[in-house]
This record gives sequence, C-alpha cells and structure tokens, in this order.
Amino acid sequence: MSKLEDIVSLCKRRGFIFPGSDIYGGMAGTWDFGPLGVMLKKNLMDSWWHFFVEKRDNIYGVDAAIIMNPRTWEASGHTATFADPLVECKECKSRFRADKITDNISESVTTEEFLTTHTKCPTCGKENWGPIRKFNMMFMTHVGAVLPDDDAETTSKNVAYLRPETAQGIFTNYKNIVDTIYPDLPFGIAQQGKAFRNEISPRDFILRDRECSQMEIEYFVKPDAWEENFEKLRALQHDFLTNIAGLKPENLHEYEVPEKDRAHYSKRTVDFMFDYPNGEEELMGLAYRTDFDLQNIARESGKSMEYRDKRTNEVFVPHVIEPSIGVERLFLAVLSTAYAEDEVGGEKRTVLKLPYHLAPYKFCVSPLLKNKPELVAKAREVYDLLRDKYTFVTWDDSGNIGKRYRKQDEIGTPKCIVIDFDTLEDDTVTIRDRDTAAQIRTKISEL
Ligand SMILES: [Zn+2]
Repeated sequence: MSKLEDIVSLCKRRGFIFPGSDIYGGMAGTWDFGPLGVMLKKNLMDSWWHFFVEKRDNIYGVDAAIIMNPRTWEASGHTATFADPLVECKECKSRFRADKITDNISESVTTEEFLTTHTKCPTCGKENWGPIRKFNMMFMTHVGAVLPDDDAETTSKNVAYLRPETAQGIFTNYKNIVDTIYPDLPFGIAQQGKAFRNEISPRDFILRDRECSQMEIEYFVKPDAWEENFEKLRALQHDFLTNIAGLKPENLHEYEVPEKDRAHYSKRTVDFMFDYPNGEEELMGLAYRTDFDLQNIARESGKSMEYRDKRTNEVFVPHVIEPSIGVERLFLAVLSTAYAEDEVGGEKRTVLKLPYHLAPYKFCVSPLLKNKPELVAKAREVYDLLRDKYTFVTWDDSGNIGKRYRKQDEIGTPKCIVIDFDTLEDDTVTIRDRDTAAQIRTKISEL
C-alpha cells in the first residue's frame, strides 16, 4: 500500500473521513468528516482564524451566503471562463479533463494541440477523440418556485449557482465593511466556508473534491504599496503553515508563477506547493489581483468602489492581495506530516504525531482494569477533573492497555493517563507520551 492509501485507510478506520453517501454506493468527489475528522478540521480552521483574524487589528471576518446573485459570477468572469477543457472518448464515451490525462499541456489546450499528443483513453486504451469543449464547473441550481414544465425563459430567470469560491462573498461586502467599520488601509476581510466545483474527474482523495472548504483573505492596499504587503503576507503564510499547522519547511516549496501561467488580472502569484505522499501539489496560493475585482463589481453594480484616505483625502480604488487555502488540502498536508510508522518495544505501530493544539483529544484517561470498580471510580474522578480543565479529553476502558495505546497513537492523542492500584495509595498516575512512548509518574494535583 502507498502512504496515501495507508492514510485513507486510517481515516476510515478511526473515524476521520468517510466516503460521501457511502451507504448508497457513494457520491463521487464528496467526503464526510467523522467525529475525529470534525475535531481536527475545526482545530485547523480555528487556528487559522485565530492567527489571521483574532490576532490582527486590521483583518475582519464575514460569513456570506453560499447562493449569491448570479450577477456576481458575471462580474467575476466565472460564467464566461470558469471552465475546464473537456474531451470525450468516441469509443467508450468516457469524459476527461484533457490537461489531466496528458503531460505538458495547459488548460487552454486546443483540439489540434491535444490530438498531436496521441493520448490513449485511460478507460479503454483507444485513441479516438472528439473535440475539446469548455465545461463550466459551477454547480447550477434554481431558486424559488420553478416547475419542470416551465418554459426555458422562466426557468433561466431563476438560475443561480453554488459559489465556486468564497472570495466573491468578500468582494461584494467590501463596501459594507468600509461603510460600517471605516478601516484604514491596508485592511483585510477574511472568510471561511464551503465552495463547490463540478470537477470532471474528482480524485486524489480529498485533494480534488467537488465540495470543499476554503479560507480566504482579501487584503486591500494602496496601489503603490502592493509589493511590501505581498512580502508581508507571504511571510505570514509561511509562519502559519510551519509554526501553526506544523508542516516541515523542507516539504514546502514556494513557486513564482510565470506570467504566461498567471490569471490575466494577476501581476504576481506565488503558489505554495507541498510534498504530498503522491507527489508535489498546490497547497495554497498568494495572488496580487490588482483592482480587477472591485472594478468589475463597480461596473456590474453601478456603485463606486472608491476609497477615501482619511488623512490625505486621496480617492482611489484599492488593490488586493489574496491568500487562499483549501481546508481539505491543508488537512491532508497535516495528516501526511503527522503520519508515521515506527516500533515501540519491538512492536510495530502507526502514530499521528499531530501538534498538541491540533490533536482531536489532548488526553486519554483510563483505568488499568475495567472490572475493578475502585479503579474505574478513581479514573472517572481524574477524567472529570481534566475535562473541566482541558475540554478535549477522551475516556477509554476497552480491551487491554496495549490496545488502548495503539488506538490513541493512531488518533494522535498526545498523552495517555492510566489509573492503577498505586493511584489508590498515593494519588499518582502514569502518563505515557505518544511520540516517545516514555512513561512517567505524576501526582494527580500536578496534571
Ligand atoms: Zn475510451
């Protein structure tokens, strides 16, 4: 098994992540977070929010609606250009993203270019392709009362989309924030939430899913101050990824995206790549978007997006720098960093060496034997005491002590506390460390 398969298997076995709608045979590109996964994901999102919003004087949060006025996507260009090159095999009718089944071609590949690559169909092995067509990845829905026999015109009036990114929920609230908070430049608006992309071929576990969570900041700056702010944000991202998310600097690669590969509005983009078990993949992006979005909104809405500097009275449309990260991508990067297989006392084990603040449970409390009422009672006492103090404490009295350690190692619990007969005599407990398996004895009062 590859390391990725090991991680997928651990995720399912221990209740981190299940395939979406598993009971009905699944739903491609969707995943459900189980009890442990919810805790780890929430810890990650809370750490990000704390680091980028709560700890800053000039970054404000919003939580915008997922279904937005469709004019949002006209203005942002998503209706016209949020599309992937779709190619269909004429033999077996399988559909693929052309740039994902051939090396060295871009998203803007033409039919002629694609045919010269002589790519074989990954499903049937033949080479008989239809033309490349643009496939818009937004999930369409209808809002309000629409009936199946309504004519096309009535139906199209009610069309809306599940948002393909959280960023536009920020841009459309820029004016609300300026008019209510009166922030000085530079300032940022942050949002966490779901985004939806109708990927042609979802794959690579949670790396390319159809429904994902994003964490984005739009950072508004004076046009002539973009470079210094870009560097500041770049350093902050690195700080967050290594010191808060616990990723190893040697697994992170900052990639300066060349002009030809950048979105047309971006003057500079740095992709943060991560060494995932199956190879290097984008973890997050940092893009200088100029005033592209605010100008688009001004044009589409007819409302001014100008900002008046309180000191100089200068009036201008701010420029924007955007750090954007996918929660699932970060989740998998954290898991692959933490995942280890080693030996303890001659026995193989799997362990998640998660940073303490990200671990779902901080402590596990258990009685040495579960059929000794006096041990169970004492352990319950310690459990209640710790839970009041640390919140994330779990109880385990299943199987033997070795099995419990193995389970807690696999879910990344940093410390296991065991109550034994000595505890009844002298109020001390054994604390076992997840990473070293070393055990020490401590007074309950010192926990
Ligand atoms: Zn085929």
